[in-house]
Amino acid sequence: MKDRTTPLRHSNASEEQHKKPNIIWLNVLVFSITFTVSLIGVPLYAYFEGFSIGLIVAAIIALSFCELSITAGYHRLWSHKAYEANVVVRVFYAIGGAFAVQNSALHWSSDHRVHHRFVDQNDKDPYSANRGFWYSHIGWMLREYQAYRYTDYKNASDLQRDRIVLWQHKHYLTLVLATNFGIPLLVGLILGDVWGSLLLVGFLRLVVSHHLTFCINSLAHMWGKQPYNDKNTAKDNPLVALLTFGEGYHNFHHAFQFDYRNAIKWWQFDPTKWLIKSLSWLGLAKNLKRISEEKIAKAIAAQQLVKAKNKLMLLSLPNSDEALLTIQNEYDLMIQKMSEFYSIKKEWLDSKRSELLENVEKSNLNKKYNELKQNLVNQQKSWQLMVLQYA
Ligand SMILES: [Zn+2]
Ligand SMILES: [Zn+2]
Repeated sequence: MKDRTTPLRHSNASEEQHKKPNIIWLNVLVFSITFTVSLIGVPLYAYFEGFSIGLIVAAIIALSFCELSITAGYHRLWSHKAYEANVVVRVFYAIGGAFAVQNSALHWSSDHRVHHRFVDQNDKDPYSANRGFWYSHIGWMLREYQAYRYTDYKNASDLQRDRIVLWQHKHYLTLVLATNFGIPLLVGLILGDVWGSLLLVGFLRLVVSHHLTFCINSLAHMWGKQPYNDKNTAKDNPLVALLTFGEGYHNFHHAFQFDYRNAIKWWQFDPTKWLIKSLSWLGLAKNLKRISEEKIAKAIAAQQLVKAKNKLMLLSLPNSDEALLTIQNEYDLMIQKMSEFYSIKKEWLDSKRSELLENVEKSNLNKKYNELKQNLVNQQKSWQLMVLQYA
């Protein structure tokens, strides 16, 4: 693997080699052994012995437990504080995170906060996608690239007050061993196929779980669209969302990292969001943070403006100055109409809850609301037509 941190002026190959950070052998061994055993052992066992449906279902449940502990727990709860969770839920996440072998929640979240703060900066973002697929997917864990901050958790002092996080951090290795050997053994004993379970629920589940999560740092920063902003490499991609339990709407996530959702449309695949919402219905999660509809709509419009302007510059038409001005004016008008609409919408929603307002006032408000809504819809239509010309 090429170490791109080495300055190019060091042309001497042996010197360059010498400057590569040390290999983290434990990680290399864990990744390569689990991968090799899965690649060879699972097909052989499937051919000679076969896996029962029960075992396959158990492996899928175990995989989901790992993935959701990372996405709903490590990521949206601990890294971003997008909601609050009951102690029982946090214990589940802590155990599932250790089962997923992705370091402690404290370490993971600290890394992830650095990722958001310095996204794409090769010397600071721990898994900068600008250093290529391999590095952002797995390479960053194979050498001591940022060893100077491995035990620096200053950016996660809030998490050091969470006793479940501290407990998991302290007993991380014990939890990793207990879950990764204990759970497959237990499942194997229950279903009467210990070796099959060790291979499927133990090895293959771990390898798949690792790589699905790793796709968030690699694929979700490389493949997809950027509807909210293009200030960083994060992308929205429904296929990556399928692989990552909803984390593939990563452009939205980097734009609004404190939102408990990654997918905002009901039909988009975000089981992590569905889990968090279900937990809140059960009283096990609260204070679910959501960015306002207005901010989302304005971010999309601002990004469309950027794209249209860039396209216009590229086309270098004779009347491009005029076209730029027209686009800017249409955009300004739409932002104004959005502000008017969302402000009346707030009043209108408040009025629906209010007992104090007279019916006449309510119906006036209703009329105004519908009027501004129609205004905005019309403006959006003309904006979309204009933007399409330069799409
Ligand atoms: Zn990211
Ligand atoms: Zn994040």
